[in-house]
Amino acid sequence: MLESVRDLLVVAPHPDDEVIGCAGLIQHVQDHGGRATVVVMSDGAASHPGSREYPPDRLARARRAESLRALGHIGVGADCVHFMDHADGGSGEWSGFDQLESLLALPFDLVCLPSDYDNHADHRATRAICAERTRADVLHYLVWPDESGRRPPAPELSLDITPYRVRKAEALLHYATQLGSIRDSEHGFAIDQVLFQRFTAPVEHFHA
Ligand SMILES: [Zn+2]
Repeated sequence: MLESVRDLLVVAPHPDDEVIGCAGLIQHVQDHGGRATVVVMSDGAASHPGSREYPPDRLARARRAESLRALGHIGVGADCVHFMDHADGGSGEWSGFDQLESLLALPFDLVCLPSDYDNHADHRATRAICAERTRADVLHYLVWPDESGRRPPAPELSLDITPYRVRKAEALLHYATQLGSIRDSEHGFAIDQVLFQRFTAPVEHFHA
């Protein structure tokens, strides 16, 4: 199935989901002669509320730069990364999808979207907004399992990413703001060791 994918589009709700969900898949597609385009829906500015060191504007800029560096590390150039800059955490009010619509109208063979079974509202909104605007084949990746126990269907694709795992982990390390480097936000988000392990597991699962 994947061997025929020439043009892959990955849509990430936040600047890090593209690598968490799909860094192995992206490398696999590239290894087989295809290429990847990435769309990041939100600016990521809500991960560290109240931080004086990283107020929202600075955080958004830092997270954009992290995504570009991480994606560059796995071979996706900045010209293939598109930031929509919607408000992080505000997916209920996102509007203005002209640029997204133009991108989704391009002839991708495969579009990877977050899962409708994801616990994060921005992830579900990203899926809903994109799913109705693409005619390509779609696979979904789950980042945050639904705490109510809602489980996605069995994977359509379970990709062994062993050959790409080290590079994925290295890419993930580029997201310093999401790895605990910001310490002055009481409710700031940080990927801990358990999450890091989960995010760099040897298999990436995708459901239809
Ligand atoms: Zn996210």
